[in-house]
Amino acid sequence: MSERIENVIIIGSGPAGYTAALYTARANLEPLVAEGFAWGGLLQQTTDVENYPGFPEGIMGPEMMQRFRDQAERFGARLITDEVDKVELATEPGGVHKVWIGGEEHQSRTVILSMGAEHKKLGIPGEDELSGGGISYCATCDAAFFKDHEILVIGGGDSAMEEAIFLAKFGKQVKVVHRRAEFRASKIMVERARAQENLEFLTPYAVEEFHAGEGAFKRVARLRNLETGEELEVPFGGAFIAIGHEPQSAIVEGIVATDENGYVITEDRSTRTKLPGVFAAGDLVDHTYRQAITAAGSGCQAALDAEWYLRDTPEVPTPENMPVGDLAEAQWAAPAESATP
Ligand code: NAP
Repeated sequence: MSERIENVIIIGSGPAGYTAALYTARANLEPLVAEGFAWGGLLQQTTDVENYPGFPEGIMGPEMMQRFRDQAERFGARLITDEVDKVELATEPGGVHKVWIGGEEHQSRTVILSMGAEHKKLGIPGEDELSGGGISYCATCDAAFFKDHEILVIGGGDSAMEEAIFLAKFGKQVKVVHRRAEFRASKIMVERARAQENLEFLTPYAVEEFHAGEGAFKRVARLRNLETGEELEVPFGGAFIAIGHEPQSAIVEGIVATDENGYVITEDRSTRTKLPGVFAAGDLVDHTYRQAITAAGSGCQAALDAEWYLRDTPEVPTPENMPVGDLAEAQWAAPAESATP
């Protein structure tokens, strides 16, 4: 066990985690980052990122995450490339939180949770075996591999529609397979999908299995009609699974408040959880926007929230060398009575 009490431990290393690390490092807080073995988060599985401002030519996802990481390290973030096994979070202001990284116990006055989310899997036979070789969870990453192929999209939400519309530009034929006749996706997205000439819907079908078919690019999905029980074998080149995301909140389950889908709940527009000194950012909290830029933005917010907590909580000794100045903590203060019109 390390005797040192850290100012801030950041768990997770996507755009939210590294941005929180950059900001807290620049505030002289010497953050300790548990970045995990697969550091960089979902962007490590992405090819071209063309919508991150400041990169007019686009940038590869892994290179972008390397740059995020380098920038945080440049200002003194300390990175541990290992997993967090367990946390014990204090419930009183000023309490010291405990985080076990790779089995070793660390203590900290604040913790920023930024473990992100993973693509949800169907959990059926053949899915893992063909993943990366015909089965993908990201159309923008992998669509080009399946130009002029038969493509399946599984799911009935906005993501599935968005992916299907995008894939229709590449594939010979796109089939959207959904387990219900109704769609969770917004009407306008379903209509846009329907307007694609080479796109059709297969409902209500569940995918029961993926297996290899004949020829270099041929795979087969075995579908079952959930009303009639009829079985259907559909050959495909690429299948894109778009059935939502799963926040990686397992280590804080039952410790911080989460919604029914496991996303960590934060207060108002801040990154504060109900536990003093514990903040959450990025895809771990956000099931709507889920962009690199929004995750990075909320990582910045979490860093500022942690700084203000360290500076302004009477029970916490303010760290030496902490910058003083115009931190806008008043943003979160209750409005003074005299300020009301
Ligand atoms: P979602 O809205 O939760 O939809 C997930 C879809 O996958 C649902 O149709 C669901 O079926 C299906 N599904 C879930 N688990 C399944 C399983 N095990 N087997 C088969 N099907 C399964 O997720 P999302 O589409 O990723 O969207 C998430 C959020 O982002 C939404 O708020 C969405 O509006 C937003 N978003 C917006 C846009 C846009 O407006 N351009 C684009 C993308 C995402 P059931 O319906 O039967 O449950």
